Amino acid sequence: MSTLHYQGQSVAVFDCHVHTDKAALDSGELCRRSRESSVKNLIVMSIAPSCFSIWKDRPYSNEERLELVLRQCEDMPMLHPVYWIDPTEEDAPRQVELAAAAGVVGFKVICGNHYPGDPRAMKTYERMAQVHKSVLFHSGILWDGKSSSRYNRPSEFEDLLPIAGLTFALAHISWPWTDECIAVFGKYEDARRHYGDACARMYVDITPGTPPLYRKEALYRLFKTGYQVEDSILFGSDSFLDRYDAAAVEKQVSVDLAHFADMELPFRVVDKVFQGNVKNFYGIR
Ligand SMILES: [Zn+2]
Repeated sequence: MSTLHYQGQSVAVFDCHVHTDKAALDSGELCRRSRESSVKNLIVMSIAPSCFSIWKDRPYSNEERLELVLRQCEDMPMLHPVYWIDPTEEDAPRQVELAAAAGVVGFKVICGNHYPGDPRAMKTYERMAQVHKSVLFHSGILWDGKSSSRYNRPSEFEDLLPIAGLTFALAHISWPWTDECIAVFGKYEDARRHYGDACARMYVDITPGTPPLYRKEALYRLFKTGYQVEDSILFGSDSFLDRYDAAAVEKQVSVDLAHFADMELPFRVVDKVFQGNVKNFYGIR
């Protein structure tokens, strides 16, 4: 039963941004809580690759990380696995092929120690485009305890423009560089007018990152600047799977719904933001 409503219609949520940080998961509890909520689907990102020592309880091999996220989503139709890849690893293009063949719906990348356009990473993104899988990038300030935010500025992602067929999203509206993120979106929109599918396509993931004080204005600028964003916005919570709190996510959604109501967005657009666009982004029917 849905508990969230907008303009008299119930809102279903597909959360595009959920992490895992350990092997253990009590899926029964998660299913029980979610059945009673408006959160109907979750993208589950695998444990972080070895270039990140934080955000996990112990080291995991790439094989183990892939295997785990597939197993965590197995037999749970509401969970959809995404493989977090270090695109600079020598065998990264091969990892893309293996993960796609094994059944992930897409990929996750955080540029922690390289620019988005690193030549090693570009080869990996090209392989993602070849296997028709999208990639969600962290963007904006990166809380990894290191000097790394410069790798995550939205304008650095212009380097992905020439990758034909690549679909990617920038998470967190790139906070604090939300205006830059919106401008880069406009640039991609214009590029596609000239080059069509011969260049990459950009989405924006509105997963917080934006502190509450900034959120309304960031969303307002994103939707009202004049770019055709309605088919290209994803919603996520940045939660962790094993302690997923559907009620807290609903509360977060209701805050955004109030902002969207103030902007007078129609239900049709709101429905795309909360579930339709992420299905298109990852090719989920
Ligand atoms: Zn995240």
